[in-house]
Amino acid sequence: MIVVASTNGSVGIQEAVRVLREGGTAVAAVEAGIRLVEANPDDHTVGYGGYPNILGEVELDASIMNGRTLETGAVGAVKGYAHPISIARAVMERLPHVMLVGDGAARFATEMGFTQQDLLTEEARHIWAARLKQDMPAETFANLAQEITLADWVRLATDPERAKGTVNFIAQDMHGDIACGVSTSGWAWKYPGRLGDTPIIGAGNYADNRYGAAACTGMGEMAIRAATAHSIVIYMKMGMSLAEACTEAMVDLRALNGRFISVMHLIALDKDGSPAGFSSIRNKTYIYQTADMAEPVEAVRTFVPIAARWG
Ligand code: ASP
Repeated sequence: MIVVASTNGSVGIQEAVRVLREGGTAVAAVEAGIRLVEANPDDHTVGYGGYPNILGEVELDASIMNGRTLETGAVGAVKGYAHPISIARAVMERLPHVMLVGDGAARFATEMGFTQQDLLTEEARHIWAARLKQDMPAETFANLAQEITLADWVRLATDPERAKGTVNFIAQDMHGDIACGVSTSGWAWKYPGRLGDTPIIGAGNYADNRYGAAACTGMGEMAIRAATAHSIVIYMKMGMSLAEACTEAMVDLRALNGRFISVMHLIALDKDGSPAGFSSIRNKTYIYQTADMAEPVEAVRTFVPIAARWG
């Protein structure tokens, strides 16, 4: 039994391991771990306290996948609920669909009894307003909702100082079943309605008991374009080791042409319970904990460079 997570999952990994030790499923462990990250107001990239879109609205994305059944659930651009991972799990377990977005996702969350909540903290609101006012005339800022040139202003989302991040959790339970979950508030100051890789199964999240699982953080558009998480699992199916599969997926990202090439970070697990982390930035870490370890280990991700290219 093991839980692997992005390093910001440290607030939830012990809880996920506890669920596994008590005989819980990989799906339950992933959800339990991610919920604690979503509730953490100090994490500006996930759940409550996440940075908003350009209009100042917190829009959350999440997905979960059960590697035993290949069932999955996802929500995108959902507003007003702090735990999109739980809504995603409910989509997987209660609906014949795999993905809900926007108003429909919020309606379903209400129907499932999830609590509605204002997710924009005073701190996040202050940082959003200060950042936008640095570049925008006061009049544009005051009338943002009616602004007809948001597509131009969304360049602020490419601010190198913006918060980047997402939380990834992969768990393998006592039956050997694997599950993978991902949750994010996406890019700070993004265009309203923008979805990244997090809710897109095969891009930011994929799990298949027969081979393993993978999840991404970083520039979601790249992981969508290269189908990164699914590629890692397929490369293992084709006989590559976990390290070879992750390296090959990073090489695929490097081969993307055109604009908007930035950073990517992966975590992965093979079917035998071995973890891995990869990143296009040096010295990035990930964490993992097996059921017989008292504490999680923080390990350095394997570095595979990807040259950034924006405009
Ligand atoms: N992957 C996330 C997204 O594109 C953001 C991140 O991890 O930095 O929404």
